[in-house]
Amino acid sequence: MQNRDAVFLEDLCPKLSDRRWRKSIHNFTGNSCIYCGNNSESIDHVIPRSKGGLSITENCVPACLSCNGDKSDVEAFYWYRRQRFYDPRRAMAIRAWRDGDIRLAIRLLQWAAPKEDKKYRNLRRKAERDLDLNAA
Ligand SMILES: [Zn+2]
Repeated sequence: MQNRDAVFLEDLCPKLSDRRWRKSIHNFTGNSCIYCGNNSESIDHVIPRSKGGLSITENCVPACLSCNGDKSDVEAFYWYRRQRFYDPRRAMAIRAWRDGDIRLAIRLLQWAAPKEDKKYRNLRRKAERDLDLNAA
């Protein structure tokens, strides 16, 4: 019942839904950039919009402003391999994310950066539970 109301509300207010969606993207990584681990302040398109990339979860990753700006409209894997902070675990996480396996992506990111702010850990766990609800 509550779920149906929420969908209805979001249908009426696409902006609200968009904001929630953006927030959930950041929550999945505990507000950290998928490329370098710094604070994520933006959403980056793995395949740039200019090259036909869609604004869907599978193609949108949390990124810091520095990575997002530097990457610009280059394809993510190509750009990331050339960075000094390149980490193969993060590269795998980005692939998993793109394949729609957000859960695996989160595990790989935790492997790459085991330390996590408690506040963000709780947000991430909540986001993971929401993932379960959506899959059910
Ligand atoms: Zn970054």
